[in-house]
Amino acid sequence: MQVLTGKEVADGVHSQLAASCTEFVKKYGYAPTLAVILVGNDPASESYVAGKKKACLELGYGHKDYHLPAETSQEALVSLVDSLNADPMVHGILVQMPLPSHLDGDAVIQAISVEKDVDGFHPQSVGNLLIGHPGFVSCTPQGVMEMLDYYQIETAGKHVVILGRSNIVGKPMASLLIQKGRDATVTVCHSRTANLSGITRQADILIAAIGKPLFVTSDMVKEGCVVIDVGINRVQDPSRKRGYRLVGDVDYEQVAPLCKAITPVPGGVGVMTIAMLMKNTMQAALQLASKDFQ
Ligand code: NAP
Repeated sequence: MQVLTGKEVADGVHSQLAASCTEFVKKYGYAPTLAVILVGNDPASESYVAGKKKACLELGYGHKDYHLPAETSQEALVSLVDSLNADPMVHGILVQMPLPSHLDGDAVIQAISVEKDVDGFHPQSVGNLLIGHPGFVSCTPQGVMEMLDYYQIETAGKHVVILGRSNIVGKPMASLLIQKGRDATVTVCHSRTANLSGITRQADILIAAIGKPLFVTSDMVKEGCVVIDVGINRVQDPSRKRGYRLVGDVDYEQVAPLCKAITPVPGGVGVMTIAMLMKNTMQAALQLASKDFQ
């Protein structure tokens, strides 16, 4: 059984991007820059935003932080997005989700210029992905593809079963895998799927993204399967200083012995998301800079 660690893959991506950033700055005289907007004080969101800032600083990217109060109005938020769309020194815009409930997240995402949509959540980016046109791809599924490529896990002709149909993981994951060149046969399961374990047992590659700790058990996978665990769940653990530990959607202890390969949690897919955000930001900066040069 092979353990597919994300850190090894993310480190490789980071060193390539740091080198590209140095070249970019030399050529254009400014750095690729990511603007991150956080509304409110959700501790998990604050820690995700801090991770994104850290990655920007490490790679030599520019970083603009906008921490707005929880009571920010829709108009004020959209107007900030509009001003960042118009700012030539900002190349990627990310609005940290979830937003406070009085705000319309879909409308805010649609306000982001598709050229700066480094999260890949804009409907036009999602459409481009589905029809196989170039565009930004949601970072977590893109990170999964990067890991599959790095570890040379073939998807052509394989039956990939995806657990979860969210807009940020399950659906874009399916869109990526059904493209020509990836050529997987994909089944997407959700909370209303009947005979779930009968389907998951058919998977050559099982991708779990449901947000249910240790949900996938040994009776749900066939021997020799590749298991990609996207889930990141906090479970109480009084033995830990912080009172909890992170586990995936897969019961790793039970499932790993059956697998050909599996991602651990933590240490698997998790670190890939920020790496892909940095990759998208570089892509956005390069595309915008080359447009300016025309
Ligand atoms: P989500 O929006 O809550 O979607 C969960 C999906 O799982 C839904 O489609 C839901 O079905 C399905 N589901 C829930 N219970 C199920 C069950 N018992 N059987 C079958 N399907 C079930 O979650 P998400 O945002 O995609 O995140 C999923 C997990 O990935 C979470 O643990 C999250 O923390 C993690 N995640 C990690 C990263 C990262 O690695 N950086 C990034 C994003 C998310 P319905 O549609 O029918 O409700």
